[in-house]
Amino acid sequence: MHARSPIPDYIPNVIKGQEEQALDGQVLLNIDPVTGEQLCTVARSGNADIERAVAAARLAQSEWADMTPVSRGDLLREAALLMRDRSEEFAEIVSLETGKSRQDARGETGAAVEMGLFVAGEGRRFFGKTTTSAVPNRTSLVVRQPLGVAGLIIAANTPIANVAWKVYPALLCGNTAVMKASEDTPATAWAAAKLFHEVGVPPGVFNVVQGFGPEAGAPLVEHQDVDLISFTGSCDVGRQIQASAGARLAKVCMELGGKNPLIVCDDADLDRAVATAAMSAFSNAGQRCASGSRLIVFDGIYDRFKEQLLEHTQGLTLGSADDDDLGPVINQRQLENMIAAVERARQTGATVLTGGGRLTDDAHRNGFFMMPTLLEGATGSDEISQAELFGPIACLYRVSDFEEALELANNSPFGLTAAIHTANIDRGMTFLSRIKAGVASINGATYGSEPHMPFGGVRQSGTGWREAGAEALDVYSDWKTIYINADPTCV
Ligand code: NAD
Repeated sequence: MHARSPIPDYIPNVIKGQEEQALDGQVLLNIDPVTGEQLCTVARSGNADIERAVAAARLAQSEWADMTPVSRGDLLREAALLMRDRSEEFAEIVSLETGKSRQDARGETGAAVEMGLFVAGEGRRFFGKTTTSAVPNRTSLVVRQPLGVAGLIIAANTPIANVAWKVYPALLCGNTAVMKASEDTPATAWAAAKLFHEVGVPPGVFNVVQGFGPEAGAPLVEHQDVDLISFTGSCDVGRQIQASAGARLAKVCMELGGKNPLIVCDDADLDRAVATAAMSAFSNAGQRCASGSRLIVFDGIYDRFKEQLLEHTQGLTLGSADDDDLGPVINQRQLENMIAAVERARQTGATVLTGGGRLTDDAHRNGFFMMPTLLEGATGSDEISQAELFGPIACLYRVSDFEEALELANNSPFGLTAAIHTANIDRGMTFLSRIKAGVASINGATYGSEPHMPFGGVRQSGTGWREAGAEALDVYSDWKTIYINADPTCV
């Protein structure tokens, strides 16, 4: 353990409110992305642990569902408020696990708290429908009902936000949950589960199982007693999960990758566009599904934009201090994948303008620090333009006009977020209507979702569901249509 670290040497599962080792005693190592040294060991769960967690969730479900949504919301609000009281501790855990600065981790924790408060309030709305009937004296209603046990599988990039985005709405809707935390960020989910129990969420309602995807995630997906799988992660894994859960006709919500375009028109505020493009591409070390990795720039301002962005990028500092601009990527494998992808792009004709490799100076060489990287000269259909890299890497594209920009922006298997920088309202409105994306913005970044607004993508970025906002309730509940014939003799 680090001196006074909130992360213990061993991170267990949390099942039925109890901390448990993996039943066969196996562990995996969690590596500090800043130093490359061991941070802690983690329960390496398998089938038997998933069995226990799902059984605990099933046992707790009907009593939890019997509470009113208002009462569940009240408990969830307590959890959000305690999370706010402990936000320094959560920020420290997030910062230690991911290598991002404490300041960035504080922002992420604040967003998780806001999500909790928003969802708690939904317990007092929880709108259904009342409508008319063709039959006299009959009342027709549509109300929400829980699904049962929710299997929640999350990525590592924003660990406390990823926990909050799923757990709060899943529990509000009357489900119990088994979360498979990311193997790279186990402590955040562990600390969150303990906090939920502390405020009185009953044992078995929120369980956390640690471990690798194929060993602990796959059995959760395949489990007959899991009614919903809500997954945030890569398309490759998403495809496997969709196929496996689809075989047993389970409900599946997929929040997947992005290769998000940011268009800079010749009438844009150039300084703002440069700063926003850099934030979209490099903040959180580019480990955002909503990061801006394709920067599509009008010919007339391309050279000036490139020069300014290059200068900005080369001035970024890497590290985990609050005055650093970006931290490491999450693990060695991701780092190596990125370096290899940049190398392949170079070989197929792209030019690396800056970055392209690992930081190797004394302060960074043991961590997983990818230099912020800009390329140009790739075509829209090259691998580097089509595949998500999930790191601080962006490509610049030169286009002659709006039509070419829009065509390039839409030339992607993904459709998560998109942005345009322009002073022309008509151009902006045309972009909003024709861009294929779940989230689109004018004169803003490609990221930055708010808890009360739905978030999700089209095409391979998702399967049509939205997280956050009241729309998240549609993921975690099902509709029940009700007819009441109060006095059957009058019907
Ligand atoms: P990943 O797909 O490798 O892993 C995500 C989770 O799935 C992890 O917990 C992992 O252990 C688990 N997993 C892996 N194999 C599994 C299997 N066979 N069965 C069940 N579970 C399995 O993704 P990652 O590298 O951790 O995260 C990056 C990806 O997440 C990017 O593609 C990013 O765009 C995406 N993401 C999407 C959103 C969104 O809201 N759309 C948000 C954040 C991240």
